[in-house]
Amino acid sequence: MATFVGIDLGTTNSVVAYRNAYGRPEVIANRDGAHVTPSVIYFGSDPPAVGQEAKEWARLGNEEIASFFKPHMGSPLYRLRFHGRDYDATDLSALVLNRLKEDAQAKLGQAVDRAVITVPAYFGDAQRKATIAAGEAAGLRVLRIINEPTAAALAYGLQKTGANETVLIYDLGGGTFDVTVARITPEQVAVLSTAGDHDLGGKNWDDRIASYLAEKFAADTGIDPLDDPLALNEVLVRSEQAKWALSERTATRINLQLGEERRGYELTRVEFESMTFPLMDRTRRLTEEALDEAKLSWKDLGGVLLVGGSTRMPMVRTYVTQMAGAPPRSGVNVDEVVALGAVIQAAMEEGLEAGDASPQFRLAGARRVQDVMSHSLGVVAVNGEGTAYINDIVIRRNLAIPAENTKSYLHATHGGANAKLEVYLTQGESAAPLDCSVLGKYVFTGIQATDAEVTVDIRMSYDANGVVQVRATQRDTGHALALAVEPVPDDLSWLGRPPQTVEEQGPGPSRVYLLMDASASMTGFPLVEAQTAAREFLDRCDFTHMEVGLVSFSNQVILQCEATDNVRRLQAALMRLEPDGSTNLTEALELARQRLAATDRTRYIVILTDGYPDAPESAVEQAAAARQGGIEIVAIGMGEADRDYLRRLASTESGSIFAHAGELVRTFGHIARVITEGGRGLRTLS
Ligand code: AMP
Repeated sequence: MATFVGIDLGTTNSVVAYRNAYGRPEVIANRDGAHVTPSVIYFGSDPPAVGQEAKEWARLGNEEIASFFKPHMGSPLYRLRFHGRDYDATDLSALVLNRLKEDAQAKLGQAVDRAVITVPAYFGDAQRKATIAAGEAAGLRVLRIINEPTAAALAYGLQKTGANETVLIYDLGGGTFDVTVARITPEQVAVLSTAGDHDLGGKNWDDRIASYLAEKFAADTGIDPLDDPLALNEVLVRSEQAKWALSERTATRINLQLGEERRGYELTRVEFESMTFPLMDRTRRLTEEALDEAKLSWKDLGGVLLVGGSTRMPMVRTYVTQMAGAPPRSGVNVDEVVALGAVIQAAMEEGLEAGDASPQFRLAGARRVQDVMSHSLGVVAVNGEGTAYINDIVIRRNLAIPAENTKSYLHATHGGANAKLEVYLTQGESAAPLDCSVLGKYVFTGIQATDAEVTVDIRMSYDANGVVQVRATQRDTGHALALAVEPVPDDLSWLGRPPQTVEEQGPGPSRVYLLMDASASMTGFPLVEAQTAAREFLDRCDFTHMEVGLVSFSNQVILQCEATDNVRRLQAALMRLEPDGSTNLTEALELARQRLAATDRTRYIVILTDGYPDAPESAVEQAAAARQGGIEIVAIGMGEADRDYLRRLASTESGSIFAHAGELVRTFGHIARVITEGGRGLRTLS
């Protein structure tokens, strides 16, 4: 007989769990005997290899690799091409799910055909639907999608009779940080607020050690590991191992053998904690953001639940204890907790009383956990006077899901010229749309001009998976309107202006020139960080719509790479940078302007600098000329760079960014995302 599982489909690693013969949730080891399977795919073999083997290929520098695709679930822009076939994030996730299913079947000796799959609490509608589609493509009936923090709360056993508390779930994984405040009662887990950073995770801690080692190795041997992608991989692997060791011991020795040269370095836990302090502190700021949003303080919390491999670092426990005033809950394996919660939910979906043999997992009284919508859902509408956009709530908060409601709106047909209606789905309580999150854009077509204004009924429903459906019907004709779901534009600032000024602009192709400061002051550490950040930037770019070029500026301005969609060529160019001399930003801007003369695409110049250039005023003039020519400029500063000066170079205030030590990688990741998703976040208001 076929059985069911619970799956934590993670950004870096995935885990599958089942309900054992005693009714207890238990993780299923994969074919390599490991409890976690890297969410990495290698396309160099047929069929593609998933998991540890793929991770090994990635480590060896192989480029036929797909990894870190979960953040792109539901995105129409993300596509990877291998052997003539395109894969979106759903296809890639389906391959991972299929692998987990096969391993589970082999281990259990029985078919697996149903699953509960977890997603981050902030996942919107498109991402949840994509996750369901991935499950189905892997031959699994998706019993339900549940939020990762809800799963964690279930596995921590917080759903016992009488449980009635608010907890904070601190989830630090390999590449992402998510924090959730949730209210737990025996019947339901209600998510009150979430915050996070999808460029912050264990890999940032690895990067810090790698930068430190690379600098030492280069100083000792004259060989910079960052010049060679294979050497960099090696340093990153050693760095992650050192990090693990420092979770157990107070000091560790790291041996590096690169080519003929061999060196050993000692790293203490104290040194590691001090070099990564800015990263820990960033989790604090985000945690406090989530508490603020829920209008709670630490003293209102019943406890903190740790989730994710990176919470094994002792500094996390220390820091959380300091912040919360009490140690976090313990006793559950932080890598497995989400998958265990998923299978507890799956058992409930199947009508089984979970955990007969284990009081910890008993869900006495409650047959199933009900997720409650903790935010209202609405649409952006124009107010009665036609003077402003408002958030008009359709389904009120705190209703148990599933829920649905219909509201009616007037639509001006302009004699048939306006047959299209755009509905923006909001989440939040405020009447001002900009204070709410915009979850989706639904474009309805086929409105008939039966009158100057027609009534459109908008029906919104929210199913048990948290998936929102929006439908529209023209009242007088009774016809359901055809629907297309489009990506939410990045720049929604127009929602704060009067309706007349709306101009629609979807994401289009773009060309970006990256101008990297290679002056002498960048030598060593800063260059290492800048190169790491730029690599991250390239990893995040959607090269189906983008071309990126690279210019370095010091005494000489060098066109290191003409704008291209060939990421390998760019990565190689990046490794060629050699710092020397002064900072000729003016000429670099001039060169980039020439290269961006064609106006067939949205054009960007991204400047990275660590100080003032040689002729600051002439660089500002060049930047102004570029902006006047329609080129967006983003100016990122590090080290000695001056914030006011960056502001004078950039197109907008938000396009001038000062990155503190350790933040550069995240900053670049963010910029890639903004450009890839249409670049509207960088557009000036004027
Ligand atoms: P996850 O995404 O939850 O699987 O977490 C993966 C991250 O946890 C990776 O960055 C790992 O390096 C990190 N990690 C796993 N075990 C440990 C450990 N013992 N100490 C520190 N970090 C760890």
